[in-house]
Amino acid sequence: MSVELYKCCPGICPLCHPFLVTIILGLRIVTMSSGITPIILDVDGDVRLCIPGKRNEEASSDQKDNSGAGSVGSSDGGTEVELVVSSKVLCVVSPVFKAMLKGYFKEATELSKMTALSQQYTLKLHEDDPEAATIMFALFHHEHDHIPSAPSTRCLEELAFFCDKYQCTHVMKHCGTNWLRDPKYNRSKHNLKRWDVEIVRLCRCLVFSYVFDLAEDFTRFAWSILLSHKGPICGPDTAAKLLIDHPLLRHEIARRLDAKRFELCQIYHAALMNPMTRDWKSLSGGCVRAGKAVGDYLKWLRHLEILEHDLEFSSHSFWHLLDKPLSGSDTPISTEHYPCVIYGCPCRSDIKTPNNLDLRTPLRAAIHRIQFHEPDVLCLDCIKTNERSTMDETCRIMHSFKGRALSDTKVLGR
Ligand SMILES: [Zn+2]
Ligand SMILES: [Zn+2]
Repeated sequence: MSVELYKCCPGICPLCHPFLVTIILGLRIVTMSSGITPIILDVDGDVRLCIPGKRNEEASSDQKDNSGAGSVGSSDGGTEVELVVSSKVLCVVSPVFKAMLKGYFKEATELSKMTALSQQYTLKLHEDDPEAATIMFALFHHEHDHIPSAPSTRCLEELAFFCDKYQCTHVMKHCGTNWLRDPKYNRSKHNLKRWDVEIVRLCRCLVFSYVFDLAEDFTRFAWSILLSHKGPICGPDTAAKLLIDHPLLRHEIARRLDAKRFELCQIYHAALMNPMTRDWKSLSGGCVRAGKAVGDYLKWLRHLEILEHDLEFSSHSFWHLLDKPLSGSDTPISTEHYPCVIYGCPCRSDIKTPNNLDLRTPLRAAIHRIQFHEPDVLCLDCIKTNERSTMDETCRIMHSFKGRALSDTKVLGR
């Protein structure tokens, strides 16, 4: 390097230019002292960022998360990194860095001193996550080689913390939108066996979409959490603890999601119980038609593993509740299978609709209605504007059930 430089710039050599000596020696001293090869994001960078990392429990738990199906990128957020960056770029994208490096803080004074000596200024960022910080500083400098195609969900959450802290969410918005469309983040239906792990991953995606104001992704992940969670989201056995007290989220989000799940539980339960609550005439007339048909229906529910339940479906996910009743045989469960020979039997009154129809119809109809409920699970604009966006019709997602009760009795066949 030095020989080339001397040929091009005959007036600058280590012998006649003391500043150059200082620069070279200074760089060597820093490199040798840390033992880390820095990532050069700007070859003329005047700031060397040292990010020691925090090998904490979250990182290790995420490694467990990512070992299963649908793992998303690297999860090692604890490796120390050093980055050579431009203070000008940092100041343009982040008002916090601008205040730190161009304001009245000691960092600004030290930077200007080192700049006067033509030396890099070393700045330690103790509290930041190395993986997330590397991605963000690479984005600042348009160095896309250091930006992964799908970071871990732990990293997504750290990116949200980083951008909230340095007030630079606008830089991440485009990249974040592309990331969250990746199928790797949207496989919750296939991770039912590890649903509690999946909930943590979904919660992190929800935090990310909330901080970066990604309305469609926010609704989609809220819906996935609701479908994947077993039991109340705010209950004592919740797997969504991350949502309940998250410093970057409004606390009402978990509560709203919980209320929405309970609302769907009530609708589902009413539809599930419909055949048992009908006004069967034959049950009291000594005829077994209705009793046998309802027995078949209960057997079907038991076969689907949804008969034993409480009102909150504590041991069921909605993925299970919505999928199972739509699968299997097309043979109707009906009184039609049990002819009656009793003269003048009151079961003739049961021939009227809906008693002679497939007893599974109300539950299946409710399931179809519930599936259309996704756009109304949680709206980011409604939350951030305290519902004003609904009245102004400025919500970025299309609400589907405006003013219509999901528990519309027609769908239950009553
Ligand atoms: Zn009868
Ligand atoms: Zn809305």
